[in-house]
Amino acid sequence: MADNRYDAIVLGARCAGSPTAMLLARKGYKVLVVDRARFPSDTVSTHLLHPPGVAALRRWGLLERLTATDCPSIDTYSFDFGPFTISGSPGTGDTPVAYGPRRTVLDKLLVDAASAAGAEVREGFTVKDVVIEDGRVTGVRGHSNGGRTVTEHAQVVIGADGRHSHVARAVQPEQYHDKPQLLCGYYTYWSGLPMEGRFENYIRPDRAFAAWPTHHDLTLVIGGWPFAEFEANKGDIEGNYLKMFDLAPPFAERVHAAKREGRFVGTAVPNFFRKPYGPGWALVGDAGYNKDFITAQGMHDAFRDAELCATALDQTFSDRSPFDAAMERYQSTRDEHVLSMYEFTTQLATLEPPPPELQQLLAAMHGNQDAMDGFARVIAGVISPVEFFSEQNIGRITSQARATTHA
Ligand SMILES: Cc1cc2nc3c(=O)[nH]c(=O)nc-3n(C[C@H](O)[C@H](O)[C@H](O)COP(=O)(O)OP(=O)(O)OC[C@H]3O[C@@H](n4cnc5c(N)ncnc54)[C@H](O)[C@@H]3O)c2cc1C
Repeated sequence: MADNRYDAIVLGARCAGSPTAMLLARKGYKVLVVDRARFPSDTVSTHLLHPPGVAALRRWGLLERLTATDCPSIDTYSFDFGPFTISGSPGTGDTPVAYGPRRTVLDKLLVDAASAAGAEVREGFTVKDVVIEDGRVTGVRGHSNGGRTVTEHAQVVIGADGRHSHVARAVQPEQYHDKPQLLCGYYTYWSGLPMEGRFENYIRPDRAFAAWPTHHDLTLVIGGWPFAEFEANKGDIEGNYLKMFDLAPPFAERVHAAKREGRFVGTAVPNFFRKPYGPGWALVGDAGYNKDFITAQGMHDAFRDAELCATALDQTFSDRSPFDAAMERYQSTRDEHVLSMYEFTTQLATLEPPPPELQQLLAAMHGNQDAMDGFARVIAGVISPVEFFSEQNIGRITSQARATTHA
């Protein structure tokens, strides 16, 4: 058996990796977390953090550090479908708001929290190999920039290394609920585009775009088209991006009056679940479950994984549960929690017009504040689509709409 210097090695130090390392270190375990990036570091991702993600930061004692960075809060989500707009409050009494923190700020805060909890953080460290002995992952091999190659061993290696996960490539986990890339999204930052605490979303045939405020008085604007148009549009991202806004003239006017402050960044992602554990390894965040970014679930999903996985590993390390049983609970809790949102997200990401029943329901919601808040909370990941679109709730919303029409 390898000599385990660490209880856990976490590969990747962003939304999934640093919180996992922090939570394990807070329980007293010896944790090494490595990332080839040096923080503060940006990444290809927009960064709407819905209220459940904000609630996780509060539970971990980190929310005040975020609010101290002058990150504007977001208290209203609006969805402009063309004929009408649904506008609601995304949060709960405890956590009423969302934030849009730059990843340079948020990820640095998380890395620092892992370090403050006692985890050893190695930035600028690239993992080249996952070490597997007798079918069990026992460590990682890698190097710092320009440094010699070293091997580190642990009871568990946790892949928090994103959707192209090196750990997943090494252990080849079962992959399920696969769906292909559905849309491509492009974003940049604008000054002079005030949002007044609003996340605005515009839904049009084959197009969707959204805007929300972030640090330094900037507004992030992301827009996308179906993946089938990737080839046709890739030669003129700026032209196609700006043309989209003509589908919502008042928004186009605001963008025309604003100033672009960054380059265009964009991508398309596949959709999948992976079994997140096996002998000597675990996966958290995008490495274990990846979905289109249209509903912006990735960061709070990564936070939830961190809590579930750290709890399961704590039970294992402290001999309260066998590894497989504890990790199976992590996997089933994760899957049960996200599956209906995954289906909803991947449906939205097709950018096909909502089916007629949904269009009728959306029209019925318009003007009904409770229902509009409910819809905003679905997108925020606060209420599950299954609950919101239950027969009982749909019945309630449509009968309220009928009563209002006949009043
Ligand atoms: C265009 C786009 C927009 C998005 N918008 C939102 C949004 O608004 N809100 C939201 O919640 N989510 C959003 N997401 C999703 C979100 O970015 C991810 O879900 C989240 O970043 C996942 O975090 P993670 O820690 O699992 O992985 P990542 O953020 O991918 O981090 C993985 C880390 O692992 C490191 N790493 C990988 N391999 C190695 C190696 N071999 N050696 C060393 N280090 C390694 C990388 O350097 C990286 O820092 C968006 C995604 C995209 C692509």
